[in-house]
Amino acid sequence: MRDFSYVRADSLAAARQAAALPGAMLLAGGTTLIDLAKCGVAEPETLVDITHLKGLDRIEVNERGATIGALARMSHVADHADIKIHFPAISESLWQAASAQIRNMATIGGNLMQRTRCPYFRDPADFPACNKREPGSGCSAIGGVTRGHAVLGTSDTCIAMYPGDLAVALVAFDAIVHLGERQIPVDDFFLLPGTTPDREHAIEPGEMITAIEIPGSAATRRSTYLKIRDRQSYEFAAASAAVGIEFEADGSTIRDLRVALGGVATKPWRARAVEAALIGKVLEPDTVRAASLLAVGGAVDHGANHYKVELAPRVVARAILKLGETA
Ligand code: FAD
Ligand code: SF4
Repeated sequence: MRDFSYVRADSLAAARQAAALPGAMLLAGGTTLIDLAKCGVAEPETLVDITHLKGLDRIEVNERGATIGALARMSHVADHADIKIHFPAISESLWQAASAQIRNMATIGGNLMQRTRCPYFRDPADFPACNKREPGSGCSAIGGVTRGHAVLGTSDTCIAMYPGDLAVALVAFDAIVHLGERQIPVDDFFLLPGTTPDREHAIEPGEMITAIEIPGSAATRRSTYLKIRDRQSYEFAAASAAVGIEFEADGSTIRDLRVALGGVATKPWRARAVEAALIGKVLEPDTVRAASLLAVGGAVDHGANHYKVELAPRVVARAILKLGETA
C-alpha cells in the first residue's frame, strides 16, 4: 500500500494547479486509474478528484455540432437523443464499449485518456521490460504473445494497441479536444509511439480535458460504428471501424466519406486512403471492398496479430456497405 494525498478540486483553476504538482493524477470515474494503481502501473502521489467540478458534464447539440463536457458519463452520451440522431457512430461506439456498470461511472475525458491493454504493460511484477512504462527498458511484447497488438503505427520500441472505441469515431469526424483555452484536433491529441511510447497524449502537466467538440455534417448523421471482437459484449475490439457517408442527390455516388479504424493501431487511425479512393465513386460492393484494402497500407504484423491485416479491411467494407443500404 502506497500513501498518496487526495485533493478535491472545487474549481477548474484549482484542479489545474493541483494537476501540475509532481506525481499528480486526475481522478474522474476511476474505472481505469484505480485498476492501474492496483497493478502498480500508476503510482499517483496526489489524486486530484475532479468529479465535483460544475458544468463539465454538459452535452450540447445544435446545427453546428456537439460539445460534450469531459465529465459527461459514457452512458449519458450514448443515450442522448440528439447524439443518437446526429452522431449515431458516437452513440454506437459508446454502447459497444465496456459494460453497463463501467459506462455509468466512466467519463468522456477519462475514456480518451485510457491506457493500452497490453498485458505486459499491466504486469510490472512479471514483465519489467516495457518502454511505455519504463523508457529504455525494452518491449516484452515484441517476440512475445502479440495477438492483441497493433499492426499500424507501431515502432521498434512499442506495438501496443490503442483500445478505446469513442476516440475512433471522434477521429473520423475531426473532433477537437478542448484543454481549457487550448484546443487541439483529436488526431493530433493522440501520439504515435515512435521512440517515446511513454508519451501518449499531447497534454501537458497542469492541463486537463474540459470538453470535446464534434462538427456536425451529413456524414455524421449517416454514420455507424462496427466493432468485431472475440465475444459480443464486454470486450475490446479485434478490429473496428467508424464510418460516415454523404451521397450525391442520385443516392449512390459518394460525396463525402469518413473512415477510421480501431483495434489495429497504436492510436485511433484515420484511413484517408480509403476515403480518397471512394469519394466521387458509385457505391458498389466490389469497388468498396477493393478500396477498403487501402486501410491497412503500411501494416506490420508480429505473427499472431496477422489476422488483423485481413480483418480490418473487411470491417471497413462491411460498415460502408451497411450505410449504403440505408441510402
Ligand atoms: P479515470 O479512471 O478516472 O481516469 C483515466 C485516466 O484519465 C487517468 O489517467 C486520469 O488521470 C485521466 N483523466 C480523467 N479525466 C481527465 C480529464 N478530464 N482530463 C485529463 N485527464 C483525465 N473502453 C472502451 O472504449 N471500449 C471498451 O470495450 C472498454 N472495455 C473496458 C473493459 C473493462 C473491464 C474496463 C475496466 C474498462 C474498459 N474500457 C473500455 C475503458 C473505459 O472506457 C475507461 O476505463 C473509462 O472510460 C475511463 O474513464 P474514467 O472516467 O473512469 O477515467
Ligand atoms: Fe510495453 Fe508497448 Fe511493449 Fe506493450 S508493446 S510491452 S506497452 S513497450
